[in-house]
Amino acid sequence: MKISRQFTVFGSAIFCVVVFSLYLMLDHLQLDRIKNPINEERLQNGQLVILQDKIDHLERLLAENNKIIANIRDSVTNLRKSVNNDKGPLEAKNLSQGLVDLLPFAPIWVLIPSEDCQFSAQTYSKAADEVQMLDVYDMLSFDNPDGGVWKQGFDISYEENEWDQEPLQVVVVPHSHNDPGWLKTFDDYYRDQTQHILNNMVVKLHEDERRKMIWSEISYFSKWWNNIDIQKKDAVKKLIERGQLEMATGGWVMPDEANTHYFALIDQLLEGHQWLERNLGVKPKTAWAVDPFGHSPTQAYLFKQAGLSNMLIQRVHYSIKKHFATQKTLEFFWRQNWDQESSTDILCHMMPFYSYDVPHTCGPDPKICCQFDFKRLPGGRISCPWRIPPQVITSDNVQQRAHMLLDQYRKKSKLFMSKVVLAPLGDDFRYTDAQEWDQQFNNYQKLFDYMNSHPELNVQAQFGTISDYFEILRKVTGMDQAGMNKGVSPFPVLSGDFFTYADRDDHYWSGYFTSRPFYKRMDRMLESHLRAAEILYSLTLANIKMFGKPSNYPAVENYKLLTEARRNLGLFQHHDAITGTGKDWVVVDYGTRYIAFLLPLPVVVHCCRTILVSGDIENEWQLRFLVSFPMNVFIMPSFRSVVVYNPIEQARSSVISIYVTTPHIRVLTAQGRPVIAQITAVWEHFTQASTEVSFVAHVPPLGLAVYQMSEGVELHTELAHYMFLKKGGHVSVTGAEQFRVAIPQETVPVSVENPHLQLFVSSTTGLLETLKLKENGLKHSIKVDFVWYGTTSNKDKSGAYLFLPDGEAKKYSPSRPPVIRVTKGPVFSEVTTTFTHITHTLRLYNIQGVDGQAVEICNTVDIRGEFNQEIAMRITSDINSMNRFFTDLNGFQVQPRRTMSKLPLQANFYPMTSMAYLEDSNRRLTLLTAQSLGAASLKSGQLEVIMDRRLNQDDNRGLGQGVLDNKITANSFRLLLEPRNSVLTKLKVSTFTPVSLSLMYESSSTPKHQEISLKPMEICTYRIQLG
Ligand SMILES: [Zn+2]
Repeated sequence: MKISRQFTVFGSAIFCVVVFSLYLMLDHLQLDRIKNPINEERLQNGQLVILQDKIDHLERLLAENNKIIANIRDSVTNLRKSVNNDKGPLEAKNLSQGLVDLLPFAPIWVLIPSEDCQFSAQTYSKAADEVQMLDVYDMLSFDNPDGGVWKQGFDISYEENEWDQEPLQVVVVPHSHNDPGWLKTFDDYYRDQTQHILNNMVVKLHEDERRKMIWSEISYFSKWWNNIDIQKKDAVKKLIERGQLEMATGGWVMPDEANTHYFALIDQLLEGHQWLERNLGVKPKTAWAVDPFGHSPTQAYLFKQAGLSNMLIQRVHYSIKKHFATQKTLEFFWRQNWDQESSTDILCHMMPFYSYDVPHTCGPDPKICCQFDFKRLPGGRISCPWRIPPQVITSDNVQQRAHMLLDQYRKKSKLFMSKVVLAPLGDDFRYTDAQEWDQQFNNYQKLFDYMNSHPELNVQAQFGTISDYFEILRKVTGMDQAGMNKGVSPFPVLSGDFFTYADRDDHYWSGYFTSRPFYKRMDRMLESHLRAAEILYSLTLANIKMFGKPSNYPAVENYKLLTEARRNLGLFQHHDAITGTGKDWVVVDYGTRYIAFLLPLPVVVHCCRTILVSGDIENEWQLRFLVSFPMNVFIMPSFRSVVVYNPIEQARSSVISIYVTTPHIRVLTAQGRPVIAQITAVWEHFTQASTEVSFVAHVPPLGLAVYQMSEGVELHTELAHYMFLKKGGHVSVTGAEQFRVAIPQETVPVSVENPHLQLFVSSTTGLLETLKLKENGLKHSIKVDFVWYGTTSNKDKSGAYLFLPDGEAKKYSPSRPPVIRVTKGPVFSEVTTTFTHITHTLRLYNIQGVDGQAVEICNTVDIRGEFNQEIAMRITSDINSMNRFFTDLNGFQVQPRRTMSKLPLQANFYPMTSMAYLEDSNRRLTLLTAQSLGAASLKSGQLEVIMDRRLNQDDNRGLGQGVLDNKITANSFRLLLEPRNSVLTKLKVSTFTPVSLSLMYESSSTPKHQEISLKPMEICTYRIQLG
């Protein structure tokens, strides 16, 4: 049957539903809360000012949106013109096979080396000489003794003759750290600082070939590049050719490493690297990450895969820095936990001291080093807090100053194995004016000239790029291409991660794992929409290519839209963006960019869908405004078709919900077979309803499925049943006349179930108490609770970066009993409990397979009326997990964690990008998350996640404000309980396929009889076929 014909015959409007998205949940629940009378009451109580601000802000956004819509309209008009100019549509015979069969023909093959994904099939073990970060944590006492001039370290001494045989080589690396948004927006920083830095760079590096500079943020560099003339471009190319300017890392930004998902990390790295390749013909060799607040091995892995050989990190816990300095292991090969050989090794330099500014980079004594930051010369805008200013270097003082500086270089070099010392020279937004370039470069050159002309000092000092440093290091340590010196590695191997970062005392940076959760959720939404659109776009091009005929498909225009979206997603991965550590207006700027680039994505999806379904854009182009993210559009009571797209590489059965204007709806497959559907109330007010229809869509991997909807009475469509409960109170329900609604006056048990699970919920608190797995009939105690954290009464309090709680969390006990709403129907059942600050929903889908095995949890949180409070969800189970739990890193890998009583509470929180889990020998309990948040397991069997934070003060890390721009935020989770069935530990199988945790890759199955042995604590995912 020709699907395309059906569309034409029925003249139906097409909706595209991106299954991956949870957007509407956010959208619709927000609507719920705004209309909630409890909210209104609280708003009236002194929040009118906030309301006014919000209205102002909304008006601005609205104006912005109008502009965007106008732009889209223009681009559509242009596109339509190009459509009209093009030749006819694809011949129908090419598409007559039906869509579901059509897509697998697309010749898209991505080669992934088999060893890349084998980690999931291997047991974690470490080489004898390998440093494991978990062991380092076990070993260290985390005391914080005063180390003298190097406060967090120790006294460093040396012998004068130590460099007699092999001179000290000093590489001073000038750098300027340009945040793409923090205290100013990206554009404001560019206008006020960045463009001047880059303009001066061209002039000042050309003045002397010995001068060097590194640059790492391609978002800024590409913007500047677009604004300069051809002569300047040629001058830049010359600097790169001569090795004076190095593009370090080459990512779009210097990304956060805790909250970012690896899709986005790859995206921003690709975007930067492709820009460099196309415009400058450059391939970066060394990564430079001086400011991300803790470091993830996922980033190291991606650098390695992107062809980089070396990397530098800076923000690591001070106790770990000190320990590594004592051991001279600040330089190491960073290896992935799963790597049994050395294929993932990348040479990593960890900066030893407190910061990347000049006072903390020349050596251990900041009072001395500050005197060699010549921007701080007397009369300038900044000075040295240690109250000894720098001096201009003259023939009179050069000897004394050179000795002073050399002493610091020598001391620093004592922390490393080699006799090469790295001294970064720069800070945030440095080298803005010509004078500053002269101050730094001229004075340093005089010092170098003095040192180098005195052989008795045994030193060779120079400016260098970061790759210059690593090149010299590799040379002096005799390293070959494989990183070995006569078969032996000169550096140790390290595995694990560098979370959670502390820069001093008990100041742990675990607050930013949750700060501004609304934007963290938004980030993942754009990411999934973008990825879905990119995959569909690629499939469409492949299809067009396969059928050998150009079409009217606007490939170039769509590519531009995708590129813009990718770059804005990239920008948000910056370590002050997704982290929630920017100024209020900077956060709004990121959000506005997001909206602007999210909106055109459905245009791309629609174009692709049209080509794939009907092979022609012309006939349906005028309908493009009906393209929608899930459920955003009401279905009118007429005949409609819905196209459901599955952007992942696995077949999926998922519940699709769409607003409808009538409860009398039939849902049919493309072939006309009726589908079971559920009509549910949409509770605009928590007890007042309009309607939506939900059904289970089955979609092949990367496929499209078509469903038809029409008005009419249909036996397969059922209305949901409702029950409302409120302890000691009355509930009145309006606008739901067509539904069966029960409001029992006495206490009744609350329970919902599906083919896999049964949930038992307290009829007074509305919270989960027991979960029954139908597979084995066993009941498990799994309690959900909410808790508050306050902030300490000490001088230093929680802020955007830091979490400094006032002790253990206090139980959330609402002042009035919650309203509990129980929904039951053929497609899904749920319990929704409305508290003052949270609307909490537990939902079960009546689906066989993955979507039916987990409990969907949605918490819509509103803490806008609070003062210095953070709200967390706590899940308490009877799993004997002791002090062990697991969190993922960037949705890419799992890192074992140990909760340690020797560390303060806030140090035991870790980033949770996509999941956290607990296990004992019998069961594993996983909390999967749709947004990055901070998580911990403070007691055996317990898992908790901080959902939002409202903090009334700055935490002294430069931001200069608290976090008071909280938004109503829907946090989405899935809770999965799995028995670790002993039968499964030894199993005869005919094929077994390791599958990565991300489900992104499935290797071709090897048909051989094999036994799999799983050990406790092993992280494995297999797809097996019983033999
Ligand atoms: Zn920064």
